[in-house]
Amino acid sequence: MTDITQKRQKMAQQEDVFKKLISHCKEYGFVFPSSDIYDGLGAVYDYGQNGVELKNNIKRYWWDSMVLLHENVVGIDSAIFMHPTVWKASGHVDAFNDPLIDNKDSKKRYRADVLIEELLAKYDDKIEKEVEKAAKRFGDSFDETTFRETNARTLENQAKRDEIHARFVKALNESDLNELRQIIVDYEVVCPISGTKNWTEVRQFNLMFSTEMGSTSDGATKVYLRPETAQGIFVNFLNVQKTGRMKIPFGIAQIGKAFRNEIVARQFIFRMREFEQMEMQFFVRPGEELEWFAKWKEIRMKWHKALGLGDHKYRFHDHDKLAHYANAATDIEFEMPFGFKEVEGIHSRTDFDLGSHEKYSGKKLQYFDTELNQSYVPYVIETSIGVDRMFLSVMAASYCEETLEGNETRVVLKLPPPLAPVKVAVLPLVKKDGLPEKAQEIIQTLKFDFKSMYDEKDSIGKRYRRQDAIGTPYCVTVDHQTLEDSTVTVRHRDTMQQERIPVSNLLHTISHKVSLKSLFL
Ligand code: ATP
Repeated sequence: MTDITQKRQKMAQQEDVFKKLISHCKEYGFVFPSSDIYDGLGAVYDYGQNGVELKNNIKRYWWDSMVLLHENVVGIDSAIFMHPTVWKASGHVDAFNDPLIDNKDSKKRYRADVLIEELLAKYDDKIEKEVEKAAKRFGDSFDETTFRETNARTLENQAKRDEIHARFVKALNESDLNELRQIIVDYEVVCPISGTKNWTEVRQFNLMFSTEMGSTSDGATKVYLRPETAQGIFVNFLNVQKTGRMKIPFGIAQIGKAFRNEIVARQFIFRMREFEQMEMQFFVRPGEELEWFAKWKEIRMKWHKALGLGDHKYRFHDHDKLAHYANAATDIEFEMPFGFKEVEGIHSRTDFDLGSHEKYSGKKLQYFDTELNQSYVPYVIETSIGVDRMFLSVMAASYCEETLEGNETRVVLKLPPPLAPVKVAVLPLVKKDGLPEKAQEIIQTLKFDFKSMYDEKDSIGKRYRRQDAIGTPYCVTVDHQTLEDSTVTVRHRDTMQQERIPVSNLLHTISHKVSLKSLFL
């Protein structure tokens, strides 16, 4: 089998796993489509009874790593609605756009840049297919490099691909919407629904949702649902610095909802119209920002890897094209079932945001540095991660289908124990002889420390499987011996090994593995 065939097979398998993961999320109360009984709402999702626990644990892991472990990082919780001028100053009103195009026959809307990216991918695919065919034909004597450099059809396709790519990059850099459309026309891109080339002009589409505040009779004001949480931090910079007597360098962290009217929202909770962000803006002396950028890159990567999902699943992806206000930017990408994708962005935003808010508000947003005896607008390093994308990465890496002895299968979520929605399930072996009462008694001793669950329905085997499917790291079984000597069996989720321990040791045994502290040390 050639590398390419293997790659294709892997992709098909990954797609299959992704579909299974989505249905698992629904079946086990992690994620539901919003307004499910009305057939859902595009790219909006609700978190169920287990999903909300996992999500809260992710948020707690991030929050504690920021505000508990860094003396110079504090948190805030700012409102979703902000003064409309905030979004003028931040550049979102004028430049937070995606280029969209409609097909006149199907009336379907697309992102012009995505259509061109898919066109490029088609050429890549054609080239790979040629190489794959040749590899089959020539067998062991196949020399891939020479083939790519000499095969006429491959060279022709490669030349076309390079030409499209060059035009595409130029059009994006120059925000040339006509040229984006021209590429789509010149290369005869068809709508996958209608199959026609009947395209409208390309228009910029602003991703911000707006609504009106106040009654129309008073002259209502147009306000936006924030597309990022960061601006709530910038406008509170002086409030926090002064009231908290913060000294530079210091950071402000925030977790909250953000809204973007994404044109094409696919891939489950990867791209949503309502989502949640965890952002931290770190204010530093001008000139020291690149040093801090390097430090935060390292700190953030360590945070991800500490979860033990596999170091090889992460990589940095530096931005080719920097936003006009940034002087360094990188993404932390995670290997999702559909390839490496951005989970977190780390940006060196210079003094752009505070400087711009100074101009628009007319208020000084400066810091007096007593060591330098001078005032300045601080520079900012931002770390910005999506809770939902983090949730998806944790679920994707944890979802496992295992074949056991006797060809039995089990689905198990190998979640990092501190993130698991339920830490321990207490199960009476049978529903009689005082075992349920004993199990309830044990739950009472555990429930103040961690999310515990009681389950007495169905066979013990079935109950173990249900806990495996939601990632519960420990199942405690109460049997007749428990009544005699106050010992229980503890079953470990990943190994399915059981050990017998005194009830009095339970709290210690479990807390050792499930505390967030275990991730930080
Ligand atoms: P993308 O290029 O995927 O649209 P972005 O670069 O616009 O993302 P940022 O503006 O840097 O994203 O936002 C920071 C983080 O917020 C992202 O790394 C991602 O985790 C999350 N995020 C952004 N947009 C969405 C969305 N539509 N749905 C879910 N999470 C999102």
